[in-house]
Amino acid sequence: MRRLDLKKAQAARLNTIRDINRQIVLNYVREREPISRAEIARETDLQRSTISVIVDALEMDGLIEEIGEGESTGGRRPTMLRLRTVGPVGIGVAINPTLTTVATSDLAGRVLEQDEFATDPDSEKTLGHVVDCVNKLLQGTDGTVESIGVSLPGLVDPETGTAIYVPYFKWRDLPVADTISSATGLPVIVDNDANSIALAELWFGRPEVSDARDFILVLVAEGVGTGIVFDGQIYRGKRGAAGEFGHMIIGTHAPVPCSCGNYDCWEAFSSERASIARYKQLRSIDDSEAPSFKELIDRALGGEDHARTAIVDTALCLGVGISNLIIGFSPEAVVVGGEIARAWSLIEGALREAIEHSVRRGLPSAPILPSTLGDQPTLRGALSLVLAGKFAANIAA
Ligand SMILES: [Zn+2]
Repeated sequence: MRRLDLKKAQAARLNTIRDINRQIVLNYVREREPISRAEIARETDLQRSTISVIVDALEMDGLIEEIGEGESTGGRRPTMLRLRTVGPVGIGVAINPTLTTVATSDLAGRVLEQDEFATDPDSEKTLGHVVDCVNKLLQGTDGTVESIGVSLPGLVDPETGTAIYVPYFKWRDLPVADTISSATGLPVIVDNDANSIALAELWFGRPEVSDARDFILVLVAEGVGTGIVFDGQIYRGKRGAAGEFGHMIIGTHAPVPCSCGNYDCWEAFSSERASIARYKQLRSIDDSEAPSFKELIDRALGGEDHARTAIVDTALCLGVGISNLIIGFSPEAVVVGGEIARAWSLIEGALREAIEHSVRRGLPSAPILPSTLGDQPTLRGALSLVLAGKFAANIAA
């Protein structure tokens, strides 16, 4: 799936002019609604007549609708357009290490109904629960849901929708798309959690991120994952295996083993587990007294010294890895997602310090920004897998 740069509208590698124009118009309506045909014409190089034909087609397809007249700027009052957001159009399934969330959303990405359950280490049971939740949500709809997006914390083959490896549960070669699709009758798109969140940033993130052609999303969770957006699309590499920077080596003797078992990976220094391990050591407490990561963040924000130290030390390690990514990719921005983004006021200085120290003078740096996707980033990611396909209709790569 491609996303057009609305300002430059580079047409180079897209299929047909008609499809490109359709996407430009649809995205103007999405980002600027309510907007009139004349305003779209003013802001693009498209002819008024071309826009009218496209708007008619988009109305026929149920993607946009007229909502009455706007303010006149001299002549006749213009008819305003907006996205048609009645009813659910897609279902997102976010499989996380502890909790799985299943939700319907409208065309604008707003969650309408959701259900959740504890993720079962038994893959068959988890997929069975997913199918039950999806079917329950589908019962309340009028056949308007067209597809399902699934995000999961592991390596995914995006062509087949198979989870190649999910380290937390040691799931291997799990046919996620086939299983859910055959039980629900709907097409299923599956991707890795970091890629899905990067896609959500691209489509629904703040303008500094969504307008960028090249950025990197760093997801800090039980592990550390990255989603690379290159030239306005997710860079997946061979069999979807790109972005496994969590395993780049940044030191020795990390506080916890990486999900791959080694003690020298970035993830072993920078994940939520690493923060908790640092805190346990500082307080000399064992597992039974250890807080959850969410609680650790709350304690740090509440001013508890050891919690702050644990989080800041983790951020310094996170910054080392981000520096390496900036040196290698020279992205327009780096976005940090996950619970840790909530402690931005505490970690921002440490991230900057690590990056200023590592990115040598003369090399370009990049702004580091907290994700603004809210408290369910993986669900937003899963929904984006479906919605991005709608907006990129007819030009899916
Ligand atoms: Zn590793």
